[in-house]
Amino acid sequence: MSEIKWDEKFRDFLKRYYWDEILLLANEYPELRSIVVDFPDLEQFDADLAYELLEHPDDVIPYAEQALREIDIPIEKDLDEAHVQFINVPNRVAIRELRSKHLLKFISIEGMIRKATEVRPKITNAAFMCMRCENTSFEPQGGPKFVEPTDCENESCGKKGPFKLLIDQSTFLDAQKLQVQEAPESLKGGSQPQSLDVDAEDDLAGLVKPGDRLVINGVLRSHQRTLREGKSTFYDLVLHANSIEYVDQEFDELDISPEEEERIVEMGNNPEIYKMIRGSIAPSIYGYEDIKEALSLQLFSAVPKMLPDGSRVRGDIHILLVGDPGIAKSQLLRYMVKISPRGVFASGKSASSSGLTAAAVKDDLGDGRWTLEAGALVMADMGLAAVDEMDKMSKEDKSALHEAMEQQTISVAKAGILATLKSRCALLGAANPKYGRFDKYEGLAEQINMPPALISRFDLIFILLDVPDRVKDSNIAHHILRSQYAGELNEQRQRVPHSTITKEEVDSHMTVIMPIIENNLLRKYVAYARRRIFPIMEDDARDHIINYYLDLRKQGEGKDSPVPVTARQLEALVRLAEASARIRLSNVVTIDDAKRTTRISMACMRQVGVDPDTGAFDVDVIASGTSKSQRDKIHHIKDIIKRVGDRHAGGKAPLEEIYTEAETEEISRERAEELISKMKKQGDLLAPDSKHIKFV
Ligand code: ADP
Ligand code: MG
Repeated sequence: MSEIKWDEKFRDFLKRYYWDEILLLANEYPELRSIVVDFPDLEQFDADLAYELLEHPDDVIPYAEQALREIDIPIEKDLDEAHVQFINVPNRVAIRELRSKHLLKFISIEGMIRKATEVRPKITNAAFMCMRCENTSFEPQGGPKFVEPTDCENESCGKKGPFKLLIDQSTFLDAQKLQVQEAPESLKGGSQPQSLDVDAEDDLAGLVKPGDRLVINGVLRSHQRTLREGKSTFYDLVLHANSIEYVDQEFDELDISPEEEERIVEMGNNPEIYKMIRGSIAPSIYGYEDIKEALSLQLFSAVPKMLPDGSRVRGDIHILLVGDPGIAKSQLLRYMVKISPRGVFASGKSASSSGLTAAAVKDDLGDGRWTLEAGALVMADMGLAAVDEMDKMSKEDKSALHEAMEQQTISVAKAGILATLKSRCALLGAANPKYGRFDKYEGLAEQINMPPALISRFDLIFILLDVPDRVKDSNIAHHILRSQYAGELNEQRQRVPHSTITKEEVDSHMTVIMPIIENNLLRKYVAYARRRIFPIMEDDARDHIINYYLDLRKQGEGKDSPVPVTARQLEALVRLAEASARIRLSNVVTIDDAKRTTRISMACMRQVGVDPDTGAFDVDVIASGTSKSQRDKIHHIKDIIKRVGDRHAGGKAPLEEIYTEAETEEISRERAEELISKMKKQGDLLAPDSKHIKFV
């Protein structure tokens, strides 16, 4: 097919298929600068032309734009800079599969925006004045490097300049650089996401924000890398965007076949479904039935609600695991990322500049311009963010998390960049206590280095203590060794030639660590529930939750600290109950769901909110970290130390005397030792020798 006819063909095509759009463009130009062509239309009109567009876009697109300018329109207007954008392009390539054969082809990629620079003008046609003869000439600026004239165009001059750039006569275009990253759901087996740089120009600049899920169509180009020693033989890839399409937010990558749907509905009717789901979460980790039940609820989540006043109540359930090292917290997080829709794993101490939330940075993508970069909580939008080592988060992240957890947005205001990014994700956090081990006499907030206001945004908090317990330890040990044994059998069967181990043998040992519902089906089950089930609460369920809540509030009555059980906890209970109904694929939240919820909540409260001395429930513990009776005890022991110290020279109080005195006042020796060692650690007390202490 000859090139000459391409503009004629496009003229025919545009007139026939896009006449209304052309009129609209002519009316609105230059505010509106593009018409958008659906690729299948072009294919239907002329399959060869469509093919040429995919293969040689740099030759073909200019003809389409020329055709647009040449069409006779009833309005007097020059469409000089109007563009033709093509959408629904079939050449979809995964970012990690881009190869040199894709260079200069029209392709389509899908992903999430990770970074976006500021929008800045870019010079496209530079006007120069010769300083000797004052002749003006133009240099088109197509490439990445600025081109200056070599000699004066004016034949009677012809000198090598000098030339002066005339800004007012040059042409500029808005330009922005983007970085697109593979979306979490398209990653297999926890591999690192790969990314691609994108140039967005003119009306495409400034359209998108970090965290947006998009399809970008355009021409793949390469830029030669420059090293300090000169040019490299390696080229970097850049997609020159022609059009940007938004992926439907509700879009879900999981296709559920009719047979699978039948199985899912059947599973929903199985009275054992809660156990089955719990048994499908990290089966290689022994125990933690409560936590696994809570994690099941988090997987299904509640329904986000728009209230008539325009506010939004989140449906995502946030869970925090606090505890001693080496008790499988990180393992649980990784497993949840694997089975969650759009799971993203991040660490609080991550080195990335965007941190967990978002940041404005200056880096090479923007050539020194400010760039807005999305962190894990933005990339996990509509999914799960598992954040390990939350105790090591930066100050910035901590303050941004308040907004991220409740409003599910992240605002950035820095260096002229103002943006609000979406982070509608559930947060599963893990934190290690500051001194390695959890100290139940010390406040939670202080130990994990997080402000109480942030802690109270978690719907559930679990504290895991690594207390030696012969029966439990032996069970865990057997479980771990059994799973290792299954692994050993499997490896030997596969690696050692003529191994006598049979597949049946391996399988029978593997059953201990096999999820009850296989991961793929579980993911579909969850997707089905989240898509289809929107439960409503029954009256008796509501009464049960209200009563439980009022009881909790009552325990906080008359305390001097602010009551930590707030309406926020009430919302948490509603969320958990809705998720519980969704697990059974039920559109009704029943009294059973409410009871499950209060049982789990109580289990958490008991760990978090119980006074370690009296064993009584004390809501103060959550707010201030120390229970009232504990604070009283510290005061009490301080009094005793002071009294004893006063009786001795230099305030040196003999420990034995303190213990005896404490015991007569009903503080056990053990408890007194504990309190004293704590005060020593905090630097309130000094020990001049092993038998005495004194105040600092
Ligand atoms: P943490 O993050 O809590 O410090 P990890 O997740 O790194 O701990 O776990 C340490 C190791 O101990 C892991 O290999 C994990 O599988 C094992 N482990 C700890 N507790 C259990 C358990 N209850 N069942 C099975 N394995 C366990
Ligand atoms: Mg860990």
